[in-house]
Amino acid sequence: MSEPKLVYSNKINKIRTFALSLIFIGIFIMYGGILAKKIPWLMFSFMILGVIFVLLSTVVYLWIGLLSTKAVPIICPSCNKPTKMLGRVDACMHCKQPLTMDKELEGKEFDEKYNSAKYRRKLKEQEQSEQ
Ligand SMILES: [Zn+2]
Repeated sequence: MSEPKLVYSNKINKIRTFALSLIFIGIFIMYGGILAKKIPWLMFSFMILGVIFVLLSTVVYLWIGLLSTKAVPIICPSCNKPTKMLGRVDACMHCKQPLTMDKELEGKEFDEKYNSAKYRRKLKEQEQSEQ
């Protein structure tokens, strides 16, 4: 099968990674400021820019906090761990299992994207939970 493998990642995790990378960029820029300490205006600009990046990541973290309150906590049917999903379709934080809130989407969209083994496993899990 030459079907492209789709890798899902959890939306909250994705934003969290983004916020973390902003902090690292900020620290990196501030480190550049330390290296440029012989040129005061350059050092000052680096420091300000670094602080802006760190503040930006704080804002993103606050945003995640807000989103988390809207996210729906569920137990993943694939790995049985608690996860949070955002929107109608999201992926599990732990096993990257695609999840949906919409029953109608379950069959249609995921039939194509799931690789068959995963899909079969999911159906099995559903059967077990129904019993
Ligand atoms: Zn999972």
